[in-house]
Amino acid sequence: MSSGSFNPFKMAQQQFDEVAAKLGLDEATCDLLRNPDREYHFGIPIRMDDGSYKVFRGFRIQHSDARGPCKGGIRFHPQETVDTVKALAMWMTWKTAVVDIPLGGGKGGVICDPHTLSMREQEAICRGWVRQVVKNVGPVQDIPAPDVLTTGQHMLWMLDEYEKITGMKSPGFITGKPAGFGGSLGRTEATGYGVVYTIREALKELNIDIKKTTASVQGFGNVARYTIELFNQYGGTVTAVSCWNHGEQKAYTYKKSNGIKLDELLSITNKFGEINVEKAKALGYEILAGNDWISQEVDILIPAALENQVNAETALNIKSSVRVIAEGANGPTTPEADEIIKSKNIWMIPDFLANAGGVTCSYFEQVQNNMNYYWDKDEVLTKLDRKMTEAYHAVSELSRSKNVYMREAAYLISIQRVAEACKYRGWV
Ligand code: GLU
Repeated sequence: MSSGSFNPFKMAQQQFDEVAAKLGLDEATCDLLRNPDREYHFGIPIRMDDGSYKVFRGFRIQHSDARGPCKGGIRFHPQETVDTVKALAMWMTWKTAVVDIPLGGGKGGVICDPHTLSMREQEAICRGWVRQVVKNVGPVQDIPAPDVLTTGQHMLWMLDEYEKITGMKSPGFITGKPAGFGGSLGRTEATGYGVVYTIREALKELNIDIKKTTASVQGFGNVARYTIELFNQYGGTVTAVSCWNHGEQKAYTYKKSNGIKLDELLSITNKFGEINVEKAKALGYEILAGNDWISQEVDILIPAALENQVNAETALNIKSSVRVIAEGANGPTTPEADEIIKSKNIWMIPDFLANAGGVTCSYFEQVQNNMNYYWDKDEVLTKLDRKMTEAYHAVSELSRSKNVYMREAAYLISIQRVAEACKYRGWV
């Protein structure tokens, strides 16, 4: 989903190369880990509602299964590219490693626009996607999950197709299923809540009272919403949120200096979760340009939309009031912007640490599927909080003791863990 000359896979490789050099990794290990293990590219032929036929391009990239089966979501997006999926698959490997769960990294995608597809057409794409990769995915090979514009419903259609083909019930084939259908309580909240657990820990370390903080959020999807929900529960105030508007093909930032209200905004969204501009105006929201979320006078910035949002251009607009950036999205910040953020002395909670709550809860979901015994929500969230808090502190301690940027510290931990698995297995 990249625009212009921005290539997320090149960015992911650049980030890897810099840390691999610092770790002194040998050439074979570098060669192995800077590329995916396996790539599947395929066509998904669909009969559309009007009787015509259309072929959608689908992907599954398995970056590394050195630490366990590949794991990662599937995105539906009109601007999806294979290089984006490759980058995201690599970031999943670092994500599962930083929270130390026994899984690898993968990612899938389909170039399609759910806004223009009926539910029946989306179901057909989900089933077609599974048919194309059925031999190469599964509970002990590669486990998909939801991501941008895919939901529990999509996961259930995929599971059903997988079970039809294999003739067996395998709820652990896919995660992010609705609760009651093999899903885990807390999975919907997990990514956003995880972001807030890491923010809470960072603020403690910085001696800042969360109740006195303000935040600006980019995005209004699943991650953003549950980030706002828990941040509000902890007493923080979100003063601005930006949200995509499909009709106008641009985003707007919705601002209320004394705090936006999540329920109020949710009540004026369409079925794709996009906020209605006129209704927001009527509710007293200031309507700003999409990019204005980043130039707010707040303590915390939370990019929770897509990649390449905090870049050399936009990072210059970050106000000096900002103390923490917590990346809810995958790959929102470019290496050039990282340099600007370092120079501004902002505490960065990098994506594959900050947003690891989703995959951690997916792991819990699989564990529950395997036991066929389900935990209550408190148990799930308590375990999630513990995992996220531990991972946060491991990265933060390394960052302080080695005096390195938080993203680099997170990479050092993850790459070392994955490289070690490759070595012990005798691969390199
Ligand atoms: N798509 C989410 C991510 O990027 C969750 C992946 C998963 O649960 O496997 O982390």
